[in-house]
Amino acid sequence: MLGEGILKGMAETAKNFAGSFVSGERLTTVEYPEQRIPTVENARVFPFLVYDGPDWQAGLRCVACQICEKECPPKCIYIDKSADKKPDFVGKAQFYPTRFDIDISVCMSCQICVEVCPFEAIKMDTQFELATEDRFGGLLLDREQLARSNEYYHSIHPAEAAEVDHRLAEEKVKVAAKAKAAAEAAAAKAAAAPRPNPPATATGGE
Ligand code: SF4
Ligand code: SF4
Repeated sequence: MLGEGILKGMAETAKNFAGSFVSGERLTTVEYPEQRIPTVENARVFPFLVYDGPDWQAGLRCVACQICEKECPPKCIYIDKSADKKPDFVGKAQFYPTRFDIDISVCMSCQICVEVCPFEAIKMDTQFELATEDRFGGLLLDREQLARSNEYYHSIHPAEAAEVDHRLAEEKVKVAAKAKAAAEAAAAKAAAAPRPNPPATATGGE
């Protein structure tokens, strides 16, 4: 029947409205901001940049590869790559972003930046109270405003963050094993190389 869905929805609303006077279970709203509904783990609002350790600048996982900048549908990520490099979490020298801004007045919370990042460097935050009177500058967040510790990531998405930590730890072990094997191969090659002949000694004349 045409409009059946609307009628069903309105009946449910009416049932909750009347029932809320006699049962707390029917009270589906809270008096925000005094009351808050706990945030669920898979909630997503805007992206943030993950860093490891105590120093956000030294520990940012982002290597400024700019994949997220290219893939972001509304093009609201702005990255400048460094000229020098710093070690990443496995000790490999990598570029880093000297500028990493996200215009959250444009961001549509699609999470594509998170999905394409090969370095587990960008994740979705659950923080939604970001209202500001400065509609333009106030909503253009820079890398310092976007940086959040791995501990914070664990506090909002515990299962996902634990899985990421596990993956990164495995990668670290693989890289260390590869480096050890390469060092052993180089040492074996050096040991097997033929030694140069000692210089010939001159014989005396009569
Ligand atoms: S969540 Fe989507 S729109 Fe927002 S910065 Fe990431 S890719 Fe861009
Ligand atoms: S957040 Fe990830 S995808 Fe984006 S630039 Fe940094 S490392 Fe690359």
